[in-house]
Amino acid sequence: MESKPKIFIVEDERQIARFLQIDLEKEGFDTAIEKNGRRAYERIIQEKYDLVILDVMLPEMDGMEICKRVREISDIPIIMLTARDEIKDKVEGLDLGANDYVTKPFAFEELLARIRGILKRRNEDPRKEENRLVVGNVILYPDRYEVKVNGELVDLTHKEFELLQYLVANKPNVLSRDQILQKVWGYDFMGNTNVVDVYISYLRSKIEDKYNEKHIHTIRGVGYACRD
Ligand code: CA
Repeated sequence: MESKPKIFIVEDERQIARFLQIDLEKEGFDTAIEKNGRRAYERIIQEKYDLVILDVMLPEMDGMEICKRVREISDIPIIMLTARDEIKDKVEGLDLGANDYVTKPFAFEELLARIRGILKRRNEDPRKEENRLVVGNVILYPDRYEVKVNGELVDLTHKEFELLQYLVANKPNVLSRDQILQKVWGYDFMGNTNVVDVYISYLRSKIEDKYNEKHIHTIRGVGYACRD
């Protein structure tokens, strides 16, 4: 059975969010709701949605900022909800990469038509979503050996990247130093397991300390684990 498209409703007005949820589920979509802007941004990059309905006025981070940040790392479809006649918002929203916008108050049918249109075009143009791994605000693009934090490129060496990739791909499991050494440095590596600790310290200074993204945990007597 084909799975239902999943729509993320980012809206702090509870009633609107709830109506949208009920109506969209009636139309055969899966939905999730978030009312806090900052949290919404995190969920968009960490969770898997097919489309985002994004209100502009939100607590902690507004819809424009969310759209801009999400566009730096993802091409997930976004429909902005703007207040009536806020022409400036419409233009800004599209400038920032929103796929479409709907002005409040809106008829559900209109929004539904936009959603179906976007999802249909997307199905007909199946550009493969780029392979990526995420922990917190850290995003890895294994095909390009690139890491971004909040959209900013982090300069890592090949080995640092491979180590981080191995940890993130296996989160939240604990990996022993031996496992890491075999996987990242190869079976024939003749060095000592301290090399793992040294490289973990490089990652910590380049990512954790610099961006305050602390996800690599030392598990005493065992090894390391990566956690959100
Ligand atoms: Ca709002």
